[in-house]
Amino acid sequence: MGDRADAREPLPPPSPPRPVAPQPARPDTAWREHAACRGHKHPDLWYGGPDRPNSLWPGRSDYTANINEAIAICRTCPVRNPCLAHALAHDEQGVWGGLTEDERKKAPDP
Ligand code: SF4
Repeated sequence: MGDRADAREPLPPPSPPRPVAPQPARPDTAWREHAACRGHKHPDLWYGGPDRPNSLWPGRSDYTANINEAIAICRTCPVRNPCLAHALAHDEQGVWGGLTEDERKKAPDP
C-alpha cells in the first residue's frame, strides 16, 4: 500500500496574469460628493444674473447679492480647488471654486 500523497499529480503552475487593456481616463468627479453647494435649495445663486433670470427664486433678483452669497458658501467648501480646476478646464458658467466667470478668465493658468 503506497502513500496517497505520492500518488497525486503535481499541480500545474499558475497561469500568468492576463494583460488588461488600458482604460480611457475618466474625469475625477468624486469631489462633487463633498461640495458645500451640493443639494442647496437655491442653486441659481451660482448661476443667476441679469442675463440669466433667477428662475428658482423669483423674488431674489439682485445679481450681486446672489453671487456674493454663493462665493461666501464656496469659501467654506472643502473641494474648492478641484472645483476651480474643473471650471477652468471646461469653461463653465457661473460661480465655481469661489470665482465668477470674469474672475476665472483673469486668473493665471494653473
Ligand atoms: S467651490 Fe463653490 S461651486 Fe465649487 S463645489 Fe464648492 S460650493 Fe460648489
